[in-house]
Amino acid sequence: MTLRLHNTLTGTKDVFEPLEAGRAGMYTCGPTVWNYAHVGNLRAFLAYDLIRRHLQVSGYDVTHVMNLTDIDDRILDQAMHAGVTIDEYVKPYVAAFFEDMGALRAQPATQYPRATEHIPEMIEMISELIENQNAYSADGDVYFRIASFPAYGALSRLDRSGLKPGVRVATDKYDKESVSDFALWKKAHPEDATLGAAWDAPFGRGRPGWHIECSAMSKRYLGETLDIHGGGVDLMFPHHENEIAQSEAANHKPLARFWLHSEHLADATGEKMSKSAGGFTTLRDLSGAGHDPVAVRFFLLANAHYRARIRLSTEALHAAAEQVRRLREFADRVRRTAPGDHDDLNLLRRIAEVRAGYREALDDDLNLPQGIGLVFELVREANAALDFGNVGKQGRQELLLLIDDFDAHLDVVRSEEPGLAQEVERLIAEREAARKGRDFSRADQIREELREKGIALEDSKEGVRWRRVR
Ligand SMILES: [Zn+2]
Repeated sequence: MTLRLHNTLTGTKDVFEPLEAGRAGMYTCGPTVWNYAHVGNLRAFLAYDLIRRHLQVSGYDVTHVMNLTDIDDRILDQAMHAGVTIDEYVKPYVAAFFEDMGALRAQPATQYPRATEHIPEMIEMISELIENQNAYSADGDVYFRIASFPAYGALSRLDRSGLKPGVRVATDKYDKESVSDFALWKKAHPEDATLGAAWDAPFGRGRPGWHIECSAMSKRYLGETLDIHGGGVDLMFPHHENEIAQSEAANHKPLARFWLHSEHLADATGEKMSKSAGGFTTLRDLSGAGHDPVAVRFFLLANAHYRARIRLSTEALHAAAEQVRRLREFADRVRRTAPGDHDDLNLLRRIAEVRAGYREALDDDLNLPQGIGLVFELVREANAALDFGNVGKQGRQELLLLIDDFDAHLDVVRSEEPGLAQEVERLIAEREAARKGRDFSRADQIREELREKGIALEDSKEGVRWRRVR
């Protein structure tokens, strides 16, 4: 089986091959922790989770690095208003980010480097760029000289004729050679030191620009060439172009072999959702409105391909919650059904077909929606077979494997509380023992206890079954 990923660099689906066999190094642009993460950003973070999980399923040992941007103009402004240092200001938002990622069941990255903890690496790269004439100082700021990097714009297929290198631009804010030159380093303002946002450098006291942090930190943790660089499509230009320019001018090596970009999330009107457009929705907003983060996960991952736009709406979230419920109920049912004495050969053939089709869909640029579509078809067929007792030992085993297959990416089947299933099983066994001992009040008490946990019991001829009712 061959994994093919859509590579923004080539514009085609290319066979994924890492630099080192069996290992994959992936860098993904993380949040700017100036506020709660917007659902649009969460979609990108979940797309990273999908890539990472499928690489693992494909047998790669994955090193995933995701940065936290804990210094930028908004953070400085907000910290100044709040009268705290930037470190104090971002602390609750860093914690909130990790809470959101946990609630959305994203696997933790291998490393979460923070910009303010990697200033020396950035200073070193900027010094190199100045030395190579790729960067210059202008009144205490340092800019990247785009004219020195002819490949600029290749990733986003930018029309370079729009860039006017060599035209000296002076405004009251900056003094750079060309409008499109971007800041690597910003001169310290007098108040920056009190905010904890000024560092000494050979080219003057100041703070780093946003783009340089990704170039410096990806190099530090993953080397000069990454197997995969991921980000939301809104980062392609200028952020990723700037990363490429900085890294490749400094290292003389390609920054990444594969560039993956996930599409925007749109609100119900079809507009791109962003904080600046006022469409501010966080996971907290959604949870507050009664949406289960696991349903949000399902919606963001499985409703549409990661390179297609999706619209956020209450109806879509309700539909996702219903799909999660069906998958959970199905998994519960398969697990607690005692195998019948024969297998339906037609069902066995269908399970094999769907397992192969699911894998093929994921190998085809992570087409999870297509794979899950196949799974739902089979869930209907298998439920019918279970109704008629047509699932034997092998069929049950194969269905359990299929559940493992899709949950390796979706991760929605396992119960919210770790250990819940064991706890429920223990209580069911205790209830059975109480009933055998004719202690019906204890048995009823246990049923009530489970109901409070959102678990309903059904006495069937296959034994006691349980299902989640909320
Ligand atoms: Zn970045």
